[in-house]
Amino acid sequence: SPRIGVLALQGDVREHLHALAEVGADGVTVRRRAELDEVDGLIIPGGESTTMSRLLGVLDLHEPLRERLSAGMPAYGSCAGMIMLATSVLDTRPDMRTLDGLDITVRRNAFGRQVESFETDLEVEGVPGPPMRAVFIRAPWVEQVGPGVEVLATVPDGPAEGRVVAVRQGQVIATSFHPEVTGDRRMHQYFTDLVAG
Ligand code: GLN
Repeated sequence: SPRIGVLALQGDVREHLHALAEVGADGVTVRRRAELDEVDGLIIPGGESTTMSRLLGVLDLHEPLRERLSAGMPAYGSCAGMIMLATSVLDTRPDMRTLDGLDITVRRNAFGRQVESFETDLEVEGVPGPPMRAVFIRAPWVEQVGPGVEVLATVPDGPAEGRVVAVRQGQVIATSFHPEVTGDRRMHQYFTDLVAG
């Protein structure tokens, strides 16, 4: 089974490890470069992207991670992880540094301050079966996608109808929502299959 790292600087690391175990992947935490070198793919969890960005710098992980991504390592970012993978971020701190794994512009906390969190059911392209429960917690949305980026899901209805909330570019995927907090393992299965090739 593929060895999939979960970037474990901050955020909901345990939930992703649990989900990976349930789909039969070998999930391991990544906090150091040596650990990054040993994984076939990487999940960047939800949490706080500005904190993650700062910790990547402190731990000298920023460049090694960018290098692995540009060399084609599969990656999956949920929520703050989506922000970390983006090329461009709106509504963030000036010192925020991302990993340029996806040619997208994301807006942090895009759904509005009043709406801390909400849930909806949505279809994800390439994920078989019924619509997936999507949990959004102070989530970003995707405002612009580059030519190589495929939109996998949009918000089906409500005030944010049509907003892009899941994308893929090559071996890198991201969701604004948190499949790791529901019992639905289809996103983790999708990513594990992608890593396994
Ligand atoms: N608002 C957080 C950020 O900007 C993301 C929230 C989350 O990951 N649940 O990083």
